[in-house]
Amino acid sequence: MIIKGRIEKLRHKLAEAVLDAILVSQGENRRYLSGFTGSAGFLLISERKAILATDFRYVEQAQAQAPDFEIFQIQGELPAWFPDLASSLNVRRIGFEANNLSFSTYRRLAATMGEKRLVPTEEIVESLRAIKDERELELITRAVELTDDAVEEIAPRICPGMKEKEVAWEIEKLLREKGSESLPFPSIVASGPNAALPHATPSERPILSGEPVVIDIGARIEGYCSDLSRTICPGNGDKTFAKIYDLVLGAQLAAIATIEAGMSGEQADALARTVIEQGGYGEAFGHGLGHGVGLAPHEQPRLGRGSSIVLCDGMVFTIEPGIYVKGWGGVRIEDVVVMEKGKVRVLSKAKKID
Ligand code: ZN
Repeated sequence: MIIKGRIEKLRHKLAEAVLDAILVSQGENRRYLSGFTGSAGFLLISERKAILATDFRYVEQAQAQAPDFEIFQIQGELPAWFPDLASSLNVRRIGFEANNLSFSTYRRLAATMGEKRLVPTEEIVESLRAIKDERELELITRAVELTDDAVEEIAPRICPGMKEKEVAWEIEKLLREKGSESLPFPSIVASGPNAALPHATPSERPILSGEPVVIDIGARIEGYCSDLSRTICPGNGDKTFAKIYDLVLGAQLAAIATIEAGMSGEQADALARTVIEQGGYGEAFGHGLGHGVGLAPHEQPRLGRGSSIVLCDGMVFTIEPGIYVKGWGGVRIEDVVVMEKGKVRVLSKAKKID
């Protein structure tokens, strides 16, 4: 039923865009629309047909996981089989995912099919994925609980002298033991000056007393991700830490309290950004306020400058302001939230420093 509903919504979108069919090549979009979890394959969906094209390795799995689709076994690259399949469906304007199909593949397809038949599209399936149903929210909530538990269990054990890599490994082990599937992104444990790099890689650096440690981790349940950041300070932090931490937390809480349905991603971002700017650290908050979380750890809606997406009920996203000071370190605090009845409800429960 869930899959049928998604395909129905997609067909409305196709009609709106005056497309006869769409070729879906993006991995999470493929899974979302079909239920097929394999790592290779394409969907071709028209008004009347829904085809899942995959190779020998995945045919059996595809048949089992995607009963709403006709399974078509392929051999070779897209340009070798797609033009014939498209002709057999008698479809003229076929959308393709411009953010996913490579230029060279497009060129080869266009050479056989003609440029007019191939219509670049953006964010069609992503816009459906941005709004979660109950089951999706339940899976994300479970993934969020895993990261909450892991950080709460490990954070008090972090003591000066431990290496970033050791802490990262302890967290990763725990997440897997507690039931996470393969982690959605490499865990971040960044201490001292390394914490000034928003996406630092855990290193051999021993954590020193009194410096900030940014921990950013994710878990995955049935494909659905969580994303959590906490900043701790083993030993007593300096005055800078207290000041920056309070500012980031204040910005996060302000955003949580005031983001409303109907705002754009840019307006939501501004709610936290203003607080940090007024505190004198505007330049040090160099990334967006947040991003959607679902089958991908980063998806729509994006909360940041230039994001026109309108926030609405059912969207699940992060709120994660940060301040990064070269040579000193950084602070980032990140929760996953869901938009319900026009307001934000926080899913993450891991403790923050008061
Ligand atoms: Zn994030």
